[in-house]
Amino acid sequence: MDKFLVYGNPIAQSKSPIIHQMFAQQTKQAIHYDKCLSTSAEFEESVNKFILAGGKGANVTAPFKEQAMQMCDQLTERAKAAGAVNTLIFSERTIKGDNTDGVGLVNDLKNHQVQLTNKTILLMGAGGAARGVILPLLAENPKQIVIVNRTTEKAEQLAARFTDQKITAISYAETAKATFDVVINATSASLSANLPDLSSTCITTNTVCYDMVYGAKLSPFLNWCKKHKARLVIDGLGMLVGQAAESFYIWRNVRPQQTQVLAKLRSQLQGADK
Ligand code: NDP
Repeated sequence: MDKFLVYGNPIAQSKSPIIHQMFAQQTKQAIHYDKCLSTSAEFEESVNKFILAGGKGANVTAPFKEQAMQMCDQLTERAKAAGAVNTLIFSERTIKGDNTDGVGLVNDLKNHQVQLTNKTILLMGAGGAARGVILPLLAENPKQIVIVNRTTEKAEQLAARFTDQKITAISYAETAKATFDVVINATSASLSANLPDLSSTCITTNTVCYDMVYGAKLSPFLNWCKKHKARLVIDGLGMLVGQAAESFYIWRNVRPQQTQVLAKLRSQLQGADK
């Protein structure tokens, strides 16, 4: 049976094993997928041991996505652009790194019938998650991608990594001067029940708001967007399932169906809150 792991710290909360087992059942693939709690000091050794033990691949979540990239012999273009890896593919003597977060986000937006072509997108955050989605968002040919971050220099540095003139950076104060078709929260603010310092005037009744964070209840950010009459609010559960589906496809060359898996996770999440 082919073995896979997800590395992270913390990792107990990870839904990746459940998702991949559901994909495996559905596509009749024989895989074993487990969680691995690691530390920065142990991460590399742990991956190497897993490869020696016959591991075929791994997912990587916070805080190891950059460290995982450093271990790779080959990187996909989207992993290079992200500067972070969430999917490792092990073959004889080589470690290949990919980043499937952006595909997960874009597919989830499409599943909600959200158009990105020729639209103005505000991307909040400049960490690994924000970096991971820029190239796949750009591939949808938006009119503009504007990056905003609490530490504005990081947004500017991130925008400067791309030669495409469509990508710019602003401060939160400047969000009062524009409106956006799609606002994506790629910050971790919702995890600590905080709200980024976004101007409510940049959201209109046509704006779609996305929070990469998900939970049993709507996040503080999505509640705030609803209050300001956003057209549609979407949490990151579909992105989670989408990035997993893309990793599964990379490893197994079979595309799993996501709808039922997403519905099951959603009901488990909501059940957990009762
Ligand atoms: P990082 O730690 O790399 O980056 C965090 C970002 O959030 C930084 O830009 C930081 O700004 C910003 N931030 C944190 N707190 C606040 C705040 N109170 N107000 C404004 N900005 C804030 O995290 P990641 O990029 O790896 O992940 C971001 C989020 O995305 C996480 O919550 C993660 O769970 C989620 N995620 C979800 C996925 C999914 O599949 N649904 C996939 C990947 C990530 P600064 O630079 O100023 O510190």
